Amino acid sequence: MLYLLLLIYFILSTGVAYLGADRSIGFGKAFLFSILLTPIIGLTIVAHSSKKITYFEIQFHCPRCGYNFTEKHEFCPYCHEKGLAIPLIKETVTTT
Ligand SMILES: [Zn+2]
Repeated sequence: MLYLLLLIYFILSTGVAYLGADRSIGFGKAFLFSILLTPIIGLTIVAHSSKKITYFEIQFHCPRCGYNFTEKHEFCPYCHEKGLAIPLIKETVTTT
């Protein structure tokens, strides 16, 4: 019976942790709060935590020097100064 209650407690804490995964508190902290302070308090903390917002930014990466540019160039400006015409690779970078 005790093991069943512990299992339910663990499952509830894991559920609260998954709810916290896309919030600023994160999965780990939400799980820790739920385990240590009961899932109900953990859920309250998760509910008061702000939602994580993900931004996508397009960058242009030089494979030679490793620089990233936010503006589009035909060739890498730094490598172009050295007489090399390195085309930039377009990348989508996620930031929070
Ligand atoms: Zn370069």
